[in-house]
Amino acid sequence: MNTTAKHKVLIVGGGTAGITVAARLLRKGYTDVAVIEPSDKHYYQPLWTLVGGGQAKAASTERPEASVMPKDATWIRKSAEAFDPDNNTVTCLDGASYEYDVLVVCPGIQLDWNRTEGLEETLGRDGVSSNYRFDLAPRTWDFIRDLRSGTAVFTVPTGAIKCAGAPQKIAYLAADYWRKQGVLKDIDVHLVMPAPRPFGIPAIADSLDKVIAGYGIHLHSSSEMKSVDASVRKVAVASVGEGGNEIKLPYDMLHAVPQQSAPDWIKSSPLSAGDAAGYVDINKHTMQHVRYPNVFSLGDAGSSPNSKTGAAIRKQAPVVVENIDAFLKNRPLRGSYDGYSSCPIITSSHAMLLAEFDYDLNLTPSFPLLDPTKPHWAYWYLKKYGLPFLYWNLMLKGLA
Ligand SMILES: Cc1cc2nc3c(=O)[nH]c(=O)nc-3n(C[C@H](O)[C@H](O)[C@H](O)COP(=O)(O)OP(=O)(O)OC[C@H]3O[C@@H](n4cnc5c(N)ncnc54)[C@H](O)[C@@H]3O)c2cc1C
Repeated sequence: MNTTAKHKVLIVGGGTAGITVAARLLRKGYTDVAVIEPSDKHYYQPLWTLVGGGQAKAASTERPEASVMPKDATWIRKSAEAFDPDNNTVTCLDGASYEYDVLVVCPGIQLDWNRTEGLEETLGRDGVSSNYRFDLAPRTWDFIRDLRSGTAVFTVPTGAIKCAGAPQKIAYLAADYWRKQGVLKDIDVHLVMPAPRPFGIPAIADSLDKVIAGYGIHLHSSSEMKSVDASVRKVAVASVGEGGNEIKLPYDMLHAVPQQSAPDWIKSSPLSAGDAAGYVDINKHTMQHVRYPNVFSLGDAGSSPNSKTGAAIRKQAPVVVENIDAFLKNRPLRGSYDGYSSCPIITSSHAMLLAEFDYDLNLTPSFPLLDPTKPHWAYWYLKKYGLPFLYWNLMLKGLA
């Protein structure tokens, strides 16, 4: 084996989770922290919703990876390809292997476009787009802006996805825009979602029911997109589960969100939970791997059953760092993540509802003075200005 170097802590993935953990470890006094990350760009994905809604520019969501990589971290500009946790090594695509004392696995989630027949080949064309890709989010806005009449379909996939609220937020932003343009009455808006209600917490679902009714959106609950036929501009929608009735909805605009799962190379690795989704098999409180104690995971690639968001990572990262420190000092792991996540649901061009909750779906509001179950204008400013500032200036620097 061609082992190139050994690091005290080796992090796979320099996205939201990887950079946050690296910055925190360095602040704690660790000096040998390496990050395997192939991309020369870093993205603030939460703003892609506003890009698709015509409220932010795509360029404002992208920065050079070099500008967010902590200066004292070793950046290994490669793709990791395989793990050998019995020998504490990670192998990269170029064949080089890296050893570690502690491994942190956070290469994000995989967008499974090909699991929906006909979808991938039509993306970005003929009215079909998705805010789940940097290059496509501006196309979403093109299609929303240009639509004056017809049918618009917005879909939420089955299974865990990153930011479960994002697929419906863009429907509300679009409907709000069309209402302001005076054309909403000429557009049939359909929202297709696999859950029986628009949110898992009843008080928030009640609030969203009102938003949906207010825009006159046709809600297809307990339903999913099955296939897209771009040649006739129709999307097949069926009830979730076996043998559900299938209908074909015509569309002039389709915002589609793909099913998602762990990256294939994680699924087939010894670190995977081994189920269909294949995430890294961790204890949901300590974030430590259930079989390999010197392996931790967080963010979208981890198996902890929280809502997959950057907000969750903000609470997971300090726990991971505390527990890595304890592990390396042979102490019991005391850091415990409670499942906190937050879902900022934009309901119009100037209002947002900030759902914050834990594993048990208890509401955990950061701003107790504002009713967390109701949309509020102040949250919209938080989303557009406050959270991006927090992300680039504090979270990625290990300060928040
Ligand atoms: C449209 C949209 C809206 C969203 N809205 C919100 C929101 O409002 N609030 C919120 O909190 N979150 C939101 N999110 C979710 C949030 O962006 C993610 O949960 C978060 O970025 C996940 O961080 P991560 O580090 O796990 O993965 P990522 O940030 O995706 O980073 C993964 C990194 O791993 C790297 N990588 C991939 N493969 C390899 C490999 N083989 N070897 C090494 N490195 C690799 C990638 O290049 C990437 O840099 C949204 C996401 C989207 C797409």
